[in-house]
Amino acid sequence: MNRLTDENGGLKQGPLMILDKISDHVFEAFKKLSQYENTGLDPEEVEQLALVYKRVKEAFGDTITVNEIVDAVWDELKERDMAMEVEDIHLDEYYCPACGAENSCNQRCVEDNFCPVCGQRLKVKNEGIEW
Ligand SMILES: [Zn+2]
Repeated sequence: MNRLTDENGGLKQGPLMILDKISDHVFEAFKKLSQYENTGLDPEEVEQLALVYKRVKEAFGDTITVNEIVDAVWDELKERDMAMEVEDIHLDEYYCPACGAENSCNQRCVEDNFCPVCGQRLKVKNEGIEW
């Protein structure tokens, strides 16, 4: 008998063996496609992440991982989003409690919800000036 398959069920002969090799490649391609689709990202988003990854590697090499950078940025953003009370308010300016920047206000009335310089969320007890 001339076998068409090997002992493990793989195709054995001539053109059929080529089909077996192709099916291995197709299986590997679907496996990689599945891994990509598991990310839930579009190709454009993957390209953006790849650029970030490349820039991180260029800047830091292997001294820090992308996840460590994301964690650090996340912590900074969380802290910056916690409102800090503005206490140093003058007639035409106030000072950011986070970075100390001198920002403009109107008659002791701070209208900024965020520091225009550092982005810190601000909490203001506006009293303004009674006329
Ligand atoms: Zn600031």
